[in-house]
Amino acid sequence: MAIQRTFSIIKPDATKRNLTGAINAKIEAAGLRIVAQKRIRMTREQAEIFYGVHRERPFYGELVAFMVSEPVVVQVLEGEDAIVKYREVMGATDPAEAAEGTIRKEFALSKGENAVHGSDAPETAAEEIAYFFAGLELVG
Ligand code: ADP
Repeated sequence: MAIQRTFSIIKPDATKRNLTGAINAKIEAAGLRIVAQKRIRMTREQAEIFYGVHRERPFYGELVAFMVSEPVVVQVLEGEDAIVKYREVMGATDPAEAAEGTIRKEFALSKGENAVHGSDAPETAAEEIAYFFAGLELVG
């Protein structure tokens, strides 16, 4: 399996509860390397564009408000089959359905406030990385 990069966000519910280190420990224990990372306060425009695919969903307004409510940590993760692997480490969207040992099972509060984001496909990973990081910021 090829080495891939994926895009991750440690969401406001997790940064607020001081869980950045605990989540990074799970990422690294899974064999994923954090090759870029920064703590930012997402703007409303960034959150609206980032989650634009969900614009018509009933939770869109709530989701955008949540993402700008506290700082987030945006990251690029690298490793073998990184996109699928990180989705496994994250667990299901709803923590009630997430497998034991996953980030969302251990740390998420609800289906909305669910600790982390991870890209779902190679195309979205490339787009999401380029949206938040300049090439020079990725140090493999
Ligand atoms: P994932 O983050 O697991 O890829 P989705 O792409 O389906 O999940 O949804 C994006 C994000 O929108 C979720 O991580 C969550 O924060 C939020 N979300 C999804 N479904 C709901 C819902 N029913 N109610 C509130 N927020 C939701």
